[in-house]
This record gives sequence, structure tokens and C-alpha cells, in this order.
Amino acid sequence: MKIGVLGAGQLARMIALAGYPLGLDFIFLDPSEDACAGKLGDQLLGDYDHPRLLASLAEQADVVTYEFENVPADVAEYLAARTQVHPSPKALAVAQDRLIEKNFFNEIGIPTPTYAPVDSFQGLQTAMQSIGYPAILKSRTQGYDGKGQSLLKSVADLAAAWKLLDGVPAIVEGFVPFSREVSIIGVRSESGELVFYPLSENQHRGGILRVSRCLSSDPMQAQAEDYARRLITELDYVGVLALELFEVDGKLIANELAPRVHNSGHWTIEGAETSQFENHLRAILNLPLGATDPVGCAAMVNFIGGLPKSEDILSIANAHLHLYAKEPRKGRKVAHATIRTDSPEQMESSLAQLISLADQVDDS
Ligand code: AMP
Repeated sequence: MKIGVLGAGQLARMIALAGYPLGLDFIFLDPSEDACAGKLGDQLLGDYDHPRLLASLAEQADVVTYEFENVPADVAEYLAARTQVHPSPKALAVAQDRLIEKNFFNEIGIPTPTYAPVDSFQGLQTAMQSIGYPAILKSRTQGYDGKGQSLLKSVADLAAAWKLLDGVPAIVEGFVPFSREVSIIGVRSESGELVFYPLSENQHRGGILRVSRCLSSDPMQAQAEDYARRLITELDYVGVLALELFEVDGKLIANELAPRVHNSGHWTIEGAETSQFENHLRAILNLPLGATDPVGCAAMVNFIGGLPKSEDILSIANAHLHLYAKEPRKGRKVAHATIRTDSPEQMESSLAQLISLADQVDDS
């Protein structure tokens, strides 16, 4: 069985690593010559909308999936007409435009921050009269890891923020004074089997995820599952879906969804009975899903922009290192490490050491 993946970055790499024990083969489509999943399967080298490469992918892959949501809609439609594609082009369409996404959340009863579409500077000024300060201006599409975003603290910030957007359609959101950020990962197989992982608590800096912790038995689990279930059901979704949420005054507000495996679920490789990567593959192949129970305590730290020596990471008790085989570059995720332990005290001690190493090499 051959799985096609649009993109050959670290998420594709971890999907392939989870697929080997299941006897799966992989073919990736990615324009980068040194894409880090490239060595784990065949790679079609070229743009995501390259007609000949897409035809070849559709012909060779039994099922196609992707590692990022900014796949052009017509590419997903083209592939879906020729082979199986999971998650569906509809899920992509919702996730790749922040305005469509927020409208969809509200239609199915999932609360969001206040927001308004913005297509001109005058439109931004008008929207700010109802949204109020502070707020965040975001491009509607192509935004990830805080890219294309500006914090608006007062009217004095409007002109510079608008200029930075360079005329692309945008959305302005009220700033949520959250007490914490969490995410829920759900997995649904083609036959309708649906499972959820324990919530992750996530720390971001500069819009980029730094640390995720597995929260077993969190009081917000049921509410998060309810929201994720609505999304998965309404989208007739197959595969792993992640929903990022803010907690404010004991309630959850949706930030965004990711129609794919997610950085906040990397701890599941060592910290859950079945990893998100394996369960994504099981789901898109309509195999029985694996248990999502946590295995002790787990937390993950991203290495961004630079890498400590592997020896320094691996000398931390209960640390597991995942190098992505990527050249360090400013703001680039190049590795992560997970602490998995039965003891909460050991977890805190090891996690503190890991965060300190990550901070030393972090260039952002
Ligand atoms: P995003 O790319 O939309 O997920 O934003 C990246 C990060 O920016 C989030 O994880 C939050 O830490 C922060 N952020 C985004 N939107 C808001 C908001 N409306 N209010 C407060 N913080 C936000």
C-alpha cells in the first residue's frame, strides 16, 4: 500500500516513520530538493500544482494525505477525482481561510473571538470601532506560526500593520485575554470510529509553539471534545484534526483548526499508547484506531533556529530526541524532544532542563 503525501517536511517524515511498521510505502510531492522526508520514500520534486507530477502522484498513491493546509483547492479536487484523499478538500477549504473558518465555527456553535473581515485601510479603521483594542490583524490565508500577523495596541499601530499586509485580504480579531492555550486532537476513521487524545497545554512565543504538555484528566477535556466532534462530524472528516483553543474565564474559545497531524501532538509518539501519526494512517486506511491513553506524564519542547548538542539533550533524564534533518535557520523548527516519565517531579525537572537548552539556541 502506498501513501502519497503533499509536502515532505517534518510532519511527513514522522507520518512515514509511523507507517514503516505497518508495511506502508510513501511517495512525497515537494518542491524542495533537501526536503527532510525525501529520504523516507520516493519524492516527486516540483510544485504542488505541477500537472505531470500530480498525475503521477494520483496514479501511484492508493491514498493521498497532506502535511499542511495551504494546498491549492483545485489540487485537492484534482486528486480527489482520481484517488482517495483524506482529509477532504472541504476540510482544507475551511482551514485555509481564517474568515471561512471562523464563520464555520460560529455556524456550528463553537465560540470564537470577535472578528471582522478587512479588505482596505478604511475597512480596518471601521472594523476597529467595533472590535476595540487590543486586537490582532491577520492575513486570511497563508498564515502559520504567527506569520502575517500584527498586534494592534492603539490607533497608532493601524497604518504600519496595514502596510505589512501588503493588500492581502485580512481579518481583525479581538485580543483574547486567555489564561492558557490548549489543543485537542481528534481522529476519525472512514468507518466513523472516533477517538480523542488528552488535551495539550501549549506555550507560544512570537506566535510559534515552544512547549506542549499532555494534560490527563483536565476539566476542559469534555468541552474541547464536544467542539472537535462537531467539526469532525460536520466536515465528514477522516484523519487527524487538531483544534487550538483559548481558555478564558473557565470557557473555551476556538482559535483555529489544523486538518492534519499537529505539533502539539508530537508528545504522543512516546507519551500515548498510539501516536497521532500512526492513528492518522490507521484512519485514512480505514483500519481500527489505536488507544489514545497517555502513558505516564509527557511534554514536548521545540528547537527553533538552532540545535544544542545531541549529547546535551540525551543526557537529560527521560528525554527522547527527534531531529528533522533540516539546516538550522532563523525561526525554523529543526527538532523536538519529549520527556516521558511516570513521575511528575521528574517531569518538571527534566522539562526545565530541556527548555533551558532550547532557549540557549533559540534565535527568535
Ligand atoms: P495563530 O497563527 O492564529 O494560531 O496565532 C498564533 C498565536 O498567536 C496563538 O497561538 C496565540 O498565542 C496568539 N494569538 C492569536 N490570535 C489571538 C487572539 N485573538 N488573542 C490572543 N492571542 C492570539
